[in-house]
Amino acid sequence: MRRITQIILHHSASARDTTTIDMIKEWHKARDFPHIGYHYVITGEGETKKTWPIEEEGFGVFGKNKYTVHVCLTGNFESERPSNNQLYALERLLKKLCKNLRLNMYDIFGHKEVAPSDHMTVCPGSNLMAELNFIRLRIEQNKKDEWPLNIALETMPNWKDRLFEQIVGFLRKLLKRGQSALN
Ligand SMILES: [Zn+2]
Repeated sequence: MRRITQIILHHSASARDTTTIDMIKEWHKARDFPHIGYHYVITGEGETKKTWPIEEEGFGVFGKNKYTVHVCLTGNFESERPSNNQLYALERLLKKLCKNLRLNMYDIFGHKEVAPSDHMTVCPGSNLMAELNFIRLRIEQNKKDEWPLNIALETMPNWKDRLFEQIVGFLRKLLKRGQSALN
């Protein structure tokens, strides 16, 4: 399997609720792509469709397709807003991809953040970019919630010693209390 190091977000730059996957396929065919450029498309209703195997390269960012996976939401997010269902589906998909590909929030980009200067674009639109910042933070939080034990152990290298100290301290207190009760 190719090594994927970045997840790239796109918008279709067309109407959110009426753009179909077949339409996107046609547009990409007209641009001489051998197949649809995106690996996933999320429709206006929030339905996530896998449109190309992630093991294979897509066509989403000029010169950077070897190591990227492309996710597209239908809509033009310079002029409209992604639907709540779309955002919910996007967050779920990004969480899944980050987990499976061992990536984190710093590996998710909007197309315009990684586009070469001679291929500038507004994709995926400023309204989706604004949401992406919140989604990135929640993905990182989600990872911490999933692995509380690992993080606790990592940040406490002497955890066995500390636990022992706490138990001894607790027993001492109990003993003192017992003695004062007898007196
Ligand atoms: Zn794009």
